[in-house]
Amino acid sequence: MGVSESGVSGPRRRLVMGNWKMHGNLAGNAALLAGLRAGVDSVGNCEVAVCSPFPYLAQVQSILQGSAISWGAQDLSVHAQGAYTGEVSGAMLGDFACRWVLAGHSERRALHGETDQLVADKAAAALAAGLVPVVCVGETLDEQEAGRTDEVIARQLAPVLALGAQAVGQIVLAYEPVWAIGTGRTATPDQAQEVHAGIRALLSALGVPGVRVLYGGSVKAANAASLFAMPDIDGALVGGASLVAEEFLRIAAA
Ligand code: PEP
Repeated sequence: MGVSESGVSGPRRRLVMGNWKMHGNLAGNAALLAGLRAGVDSVGNCEVAVCSPFPYLAQVQSILQGSAISWGAQDLSVHAQGAYTGEVSGAMLGDFACRWVLAGHSERRALHGETDQLVADKAAAALAAGLVPVVCVGETLDEQEAGRTDEVIARQLAPVLALGAQAVGQIVLAYEPVWAIGTGRTATPDQAQEVHAGIRALLSALGVPGVRVLYGGSVKAANAASLFAMPDIDGALVGGASLVAEEFLRIAAA
């Protein structure tokens, strides 16, 4: 039990979110989305969402509107508008009825130099635009092997938590160990739970224990149930396995 996204006390509803990364095309997306729409009613009490590349948001909106599946994007600008060639604002995402936007995915941090502060600024920009940011944190293999996981997560979260309880109470967090993303190597449920419990302690200290904390990193139908059995794992952010409708729905049903 805890404070939910809306600030109301209650159980944390499971959320399974697909991150398509830079995959997809119009024909393939249409088939994938039709499969998700057709099967989502069988997953039980789990919120299901997909985050597509920007150019496909209109297609995702047109196919998913009226369904139980919500959608979002994988990144946004910290700026509201202006001379920022190539960037996409939160308001633009709102025009396509996005509910979610990822902030600080490890691929953005590693390949695009996104800093902890920039990620927090993106989370704030998302909230200002009426979107729910899904803030991703996670340590690299070297950091994990050096026993620095907790320190890295705390450092990444610090500027996000500094946004304050009111803001943090509206976001979703995702713990994604970098060594588990796209590698087929998943954190064991106990390993993930330990980190999630540490994140929960930081959230509790801020007065927002009900914020949902997803796990991400090679989640599949075969390992989802054991991860979801952990008390502080509230769902999953799913990369590769979200590109196959049946597999993704099996994760949501787990
Ligand atoms: C991700 O992209 O956020 C992710 C967790 O990828 P994968 O499930 O493929 O490891």
